[in-house]
Amino acid sequence: MSQSILLLDYTREQLQELMTSWGQPAYRGKQIYEWLHKFLVTDPQQMTNLPKTLRERLASETYINPLELILQVDDARGETRKALFRLPDGATIEVVLMLYNKRRTVCISTQVGCGIGCPFCATGQGGLTRNLSPGEIIAQVHWFERWLREANSDSEGLVVERPTRVTNIVVMGMGEPLANYEATMQALRAIADPKTFALSARNITLSTVGLIPKIEQLAEEDLPVRLAVSLHAPTDRLRNKLVPINKRYHLPKLIHALVRYQEKTNRRVTFEYAMMRGINDSVEQAELLADLLAPIRKAHVNLIPLNPTPGSPYQPSSEEAVRRFQAILERAGITTTVRLRRGVEISAGCGQLRQAVQQPEVLKFIRE
Ligand code: SF4
Repeated sequence: MSQSILLLDYTREQLQELMTSWGQPAYRGKQIYEWLHKFLVTDPQQMTNLPKTLRERLASETYINPLELILQVDDARGETRKALFRLPDGATIEVVLMLYNKRRTVCISTQVGCGIGCPFCATGQGGLTRNLSPGEIIAQVHWFERWLREANSDSEGLVVERPTRVTNIVVMGMGEPLANYEATMQALRAIADPKTFALSARNITLSTVGLIPKIEQLAEEDLPVRLAVSLHAPTDRLRNKLVPINKRYHLPKLIHALVRYQEKTNRRVTFEYAMMRGINDSVEQAELLADLLAPIRKAHVNLIPLNPTPGSPYQPSSEEAVRRFQAILERAGITTTVRLRRGVEISAGCGQLRQAVQQPEVLKFIRE
């Protein structure tokens, strides 16, 4: 029989049911779950408290790691590693590890491609291929967690002084996580499970373009992840162009939904604003943004000079424009961070490495 079951797709309860259906005691499911999510084994033979016959059946009918590394690129400062993986069906996804501010943050993808179609984004240009499964999302975190745990043995690339752990996760890679809601939430619950991987949900940031019904659903979850909203424009007119889903969820409705989200969860909301030269970075637009965010309690805006896609008409704002924009928001009482364009030289903007591999001349551009 071929290995058709990805074990990471199963919750603890589902693994218990699987074991029962195999004629095994249910507690074997709990043991397997612990091997997968606490010890991060990749081979059933390492599950030493299971009977040999069960390990052999697992080895023949299931698999644990769905990721095949195709390409890995580090930035010159040794702070960012970007990896491109192939999934069993041939689809490719990107994952990024960032080592700065004493954090070890993994940026994960939730879809192959993305259906939102933002014109400035490499991923958006290719459209949506498919959703990732829970296990395919979890495996991205496990990949870098394994590497960090064994970091001393890595002889090249990023510098990690001693074995350590992933401290933060940002769900900001390829795809719109709330458009793949169930799989994303199952994956994040597994990562935040205090008995196994045990990363605090407060160290997980989920970024959305603003799917209002799903934001309402998220507010009901008993999983206090941080919410970030990719805004990129202060008016419906501009946002309809830059983030086309805005035509369905207009800014006034989105802001109203976020106010309700805050009332319900008492959590801070951050906003991502990709700064594009001559598009969304004027003084007037900063003032409009300050007005738009006035109803949001403790709003925080991350200003991110755009990671330009090769050949794209969308270019990053100048440093001067970013500082001017920032000052206006700060004067209005909105806290801000200017996010450095780390990883530009390794093409860390979402979808760019994947696009590069499909276009060899772009890969050459990245490496030079
Ligand atoms: S910016 Fe985000 S939401 Fe927009 S197309 Fe790219 S991946 Fe999708």
